[in-house]
This record gives sequence, structure tokens and C-alpha cells, in this order.
Amino acid sequence: MSWIRDRLKASSKEASGASRAPKELPSTASQQIALDPSLMKRLRRALLRWHARVQRDVPWRQTRDPYRILVAEYMSQQTQLARVRAYYERFLRRFPDVWTLARASLDQVRKAWEGLGYYARARYLHEAARQIVREHGGRIPDDPARLSALPGCGPYTAAAIASLAFDRPVPVLDGNVRRVICRILALGEDPRRRAIEWELRAFVAALMAMGKNSKGGARAINQALMDLGALICRPRAPHCERCCWRFACRAWQLASPTAFPVKSAAPRRPHYEIAVGVIWRPPPALSSRSRRMQRDFESEVLIAQRREGGLLGGLWEFPGGKREPGESLRRCCAREIEEEVGLRVRVGRKLLTIRHAYSHFRITMHVFECWPLGGSPRALGCQKVRWVRCSHLSRYPFPAANRRIIEALREGDLCAKRR
Ligand code: SF4
Repeated sequence: MSWIRDRLKASSKEASGASRAPKELPSTASQQIALDPSLMKRLRRALLRWHARVQRDVPWRQTRDPYRILVAEYMSQQTQLARVRAYYERFLRRFPDVWTLARASLDQVRKAWEGLGYYARARYLHEAARQIVREHGGRIPDDPARLSALPGCGPYTAAAIASLAFDRPVPVLDGNVRRVICRILALGEDPRRRAIEWELRAFVAALMAMGKNSKGGARAINQALMDLGALICRPRAPHCERCCWRFACRAWQLASPTAFPVKSAAPRRPHYEIAVGVIWRPPPALSSRSRRMQRDFESEVLIAQRREGGLLGGLWEFPGGKREPGESLRRCCAREIEEEVGLRVRVGRKLLTIRHAYSHFRITMHVFECWPLGGSPRALGCQKVRWVRCSHLSRYPFPAANRRIIEALREGDLCAKRR
């Protein structure tokens, strides 16, 4: 008797009585999956039939162009589909093929990426394009192992490109797929555990293997599973009454769909206080004639480029940093600026406060106006420093919180008042 049949028999007995709490479910990590071929065939048929009727309208699903799929998969890392949509077409208009992307400068790529977050991906995608041109003659590899050798292309991204662009039989386990399988098998352990991951892969691989001589390849199975999770088996309110897999779903039989997948508690994200300075460039000593003309001059502010490799690497920002215990915000602002760009500054009034959340921490950013007391800026704790006209700030890629400072400068007409 197969593992899944055992489970389903057991669950039908349970279904006649009260539903069991998920914590009572047996651990499955050590069990071998011997999936029932006839059940897997039924599951496969039901899934593909359902998917033929209700495919999601996703731009990169309409293409087999590996470059477009590669761009979509890099953009989709850690980011929701609705957010990627807004950037995807614009990015492809700017960089329509791998050669154009490889020829572009990193700053141009970052600018096109600005606002999408997780900026290391822009750098990785740019490096990957260069590597594809250099090592593969501009052809994107179809093999997951060779795809994994590209910068920023982890196992998930490599599997997605290999499957969606080349129909290679590799399971693509995104959050939606994990949730569906955890529920149908009622897996009582965290799916991020390696042993459980193996079970999920084995399940998808078995679904694919059932279709060797029938319609629908690996690409179709992966896409259908992703869509089942996104449209029907939703995280908080699954539509079990409309689900093509309800006939075999253990979580539904237990009347506890939302109890799966089981997750360990996430650690609380730390919070930091940050002080940054909008440092105005002092006007040069001018003759009286020039002084009359200076009304036409535009204010300049100092910006610094973050070092490559770290968080938000290569993006530009207003200098500043994290407050030390017991330090005042103004003192922190002056100290951080001196450490980062080598300028002693007078810290003036506070312009605004910004709250922002990153994936692993949260910040409250306090923004002050500052004026140099002497010296010239130098790149000490950053990659580059530059005086920039306010109207030119939009030419540089900034992280989200810093872009809100630029908006505030524009809205408050602050740039025009500084000279
Ligand atoms: S029956 Fe419900 S819980 Fe089970 S796979 Fe379908 S939507 Fe998800």
C-alpha cells in the first residue's frame, strides 16, 4: 500500500470524527514517499484540466524567450508579481535583449531598477548578462547547473528558467507550490526543512513523470501548481470548494487547510534610529555682479555612493548612519557625516522623519539640514562622493527612503531657497 493511499485511508476515518489539531499529525520527515501512480495520474489530469480554463495573465508566461523569462525571474526574487509587472515591460523596453543589457553601465541598469528594491539583483542581472555574452555567445543556458553558475541565480531561479523557458523537468518550488503540497499531504513540519523540501520535490517530480506520453510537460505542471496556489489555495482563505484537488486533499479532510504549512516563529525584526544630513554646498565668494546672478544658480547637495557588495550596494544616499546608545540625533548626524565623507558640519533644523521596513530590520530615519564648517568631502566610508544639483538628483539611483527625502525637497521647494 502506498504512502499517500495510507494517508488518505487514515484521513477518511478521521473525517468521520472530529478534525485533529495539526500538532497531533505525525512527522513525515523520516518517511519515504511511495506515491500511488494511479492517484498521481488523477491529480495531474485534474490539475492540467483546471489550468487550461483559468490561466493567470502574467506577461512572461506568454513567451518562451529565455531572456524575458530570465529578467522576470530575477525581478521576482523576494518580490510580489503585481510589483514586478510595473517594472518588467519598462525594463525590457530599455534593455530589449541580453546584448543591450550587457553593454549598459551598471548605473543605467540600477536606474531602471530604482524602486523595485533588493538592488543587489540589478547588479547580479547585469553581471549575468555579461557572463552569458562572454561565455555562452549570448545564448542563455538551458541546464539548471549551468544557470546556477550565473551571478545571483540560485537553485529556485535556475529551475524556473530551465523549466519555463526550456521545459526541462525540474520542480519549481515557490511559496505557492510549497503551500499547496503541504496542504494536500498535510505535512506536519516546516517546509523549509531540508527533509521536507525533498518530499515536496519528490511530489512534483512524480507529477511530471506521469506525463511522459501525454500532453503537458514540466513547464505546464510548474505553472499550474503556481497558479493553483495563487488563485485557489490562498494563504489565509483557500477556496477549497472550487479546488480541483479537493478529492485528495488531506488538509481539507482534516478541516484545517490554513494550519498548513507549519512554520516556526519568525524572529522579530530589530529597529534602528538613523540620522542623515542634507548637506548644502556653500556658495563661492562672488563679486557683486556675480552675486546678482547667483539667484539663477541652483543649490547643490552632497550625496555618497554606498560600497558594492553590501546592503543597497552601489546606490546613492544622503550621508548619515546609525545612532549609538545614548547619543543625540544631531550628534549622531555630525559624527556619521564626518566618518563617511570627512566633512565637519553644522547640523540645522530637522526636515522630516521617515519610517521604513527592510526584510530583516526596520529604521526610523531623521533628516537634518547641514552646512559644512570646513574641508572638502572625501569617500571614507563610502565608494564615491559628489556635489549634485537638486534637479539632477533624479539621475542617480537611490534607495526608497532616500527618494522620499528628494520628494520632500522638491515639494517644500527647499532647493531654490538655499542661495
Ligand atoms: S482542497 Fe483546499 S487546502 Fe486542499 S489544495 Fe485545494 S484549496 Fe488547498
